Amino acid sequence: MFDLTQEHRDIQARARAVAEAVAPYAAEADEYTQVHPGVLAELRESGLARHVVPAAYGGASERLDPLAIAVVREALMYSSAHLDSMFGMQGVGSYSLSVGGLEELKEQWLPRVATMDAIAGLALTEPDVGSDLRAVTTTLTADGDEVVIDGRKSFITNGGAADFYCVLAREGDGYSMVLVPADSDGLTIEPGADLIAPHILGELAFHQVRVPSTHRLGVPGKAFSLMLQTLAVFRVTVAASGVGLAQAALDEAVRHAQERSQFGRPLAELGAVSQSLALSWTETEAARSFVYRAAALATEDPLGHLDFSSMAKVSATETAGRVVDRSVQTMGRFGLVRGSAIERLYRNARPLRVYEGATEVLLDSLARRLVKKGR
Ligand SMILES: Cc1cc2nc3c(=O)[nH]c(=O)nc-3n(C[C@H](O)[C@H](O)[C@H](O)COP(=O)(O)OP(=O)(O)OC[C@H]3O[C@@H](n4cnc5c(N)ncnc54)[C@H](O)[C@@H]3O)c2cc1C
Repeated sequence: MFDLTQEHRDIQARARAVAEAVAPYAAEADEYTQVHPGVLAELRESGLARHVVPAAYGGASERLDPLAIAVVREALMYSSAHLDSMFGMQGVGSYSLSVGGLEELKEQWLPRVATMDAIAGLALTEPDVGSDLRAVTTTLTADGDEVVIDGRKSFITNGGAADFYCVLAREGDGYSMVLVPADSDGLTIEPGADLIAPHILGELAFHQVRVPSTHRLGVPGKAFSLMLQTLAVFRVTVAASGVGLAQAALDEAVRHAQERSQFGRPLAELGAVSQSLALSWTETEAARSFVYRAAALATEDPLGHLDFSSMAKVSATETAGRVVDRSVQTMGRFGLVRGSAIERLYRNARPLRVYEGATEVLLDSLARRLVKKGR
């Protein structure tokens, strides 16, 4: 049987304490498109971001532990999407530095990522390039002991708030990554789109941005492997956010169905409502078990189990979408009120199925690998 170890339970308890501390102002934080100071202070105080940085640079474990990160994200997302994003992006934004940066660069930035004194960003998406990242048009050109970056990046989490961005660019026939400090000359950042689930988003424009060649991440022309490694560790943690959100939506529905009566009985005792609650519970528990298992596999060998991480992400985020929709239905007109907890969850559930691999993109690649395996 699979269960969390005491160590993971302790990490989960710490994350739950942070989630509870943020809960009273979670609705306010989730409207923020800049860093919410209260959320940042709680995260700093908690030391949770140490889980997304290797121990050599102030982190919690020698290698990152996706299961630890997953239980944290599940707990944080239960309370606030802003809180989850602030935590998760510290890892997503810095992992290519952790695995591909030069020693000096890592020493310069990673300890501050771990303490949340430096905010990280990952810039892959462009105005005309989303799922098909091999089509990126931003360029990186070597020039003596510097590299020059030109192009645009779009929908970048922490854009405008981050202290550095790990940027994917085309270099000749290949792809390279480079760390660009936010205060680099030639980098301008505009606020991003206003989403149904507000998010810190920026539109980045690179005009002849020069950074030292020592800011390169990974092997020039072969940076796709860094992205794959990032996904292999963090995709399953987005799945965990889906579980946290599904649980929050289910809890809202259960509370309402017990408190409100119609036809002389609590809603929870009306057949269709009880079936709906039980189905949501079943699906949430199934997603949780799968996510923990996939995260444990990713802890052993992240790249070797990327398929499981993808399946877990599809399973948990689609579950979150179904559970929150059912919960809204259970709550009738009260589920439709702007500013209510369930309305916020309904909006927060939606981006999970799009970013870090849209469901259809993941299914497409899983199907290709399944068929190949069967041959
Ligand atoms: C809240 C939020 C935060 C984000 N943060 C970041 C960030 O920090 N850094 C960053 O680089 N990007 C970020 N993004 C961008 C995100 O990574 C992209 O939205 C995502 O990659 C999908 O690209 P797209 O939105 O352009 O959709 P498209 O690529 O245009 O796809 C649209 C839809 O078409 C379908 N589709 C596309 N390709 C296929 C396929 N091969 N097979 C089957 N179906 C397919 C899917 O249903 C998909 O949802 C963020 C997005 C959001 C919403």
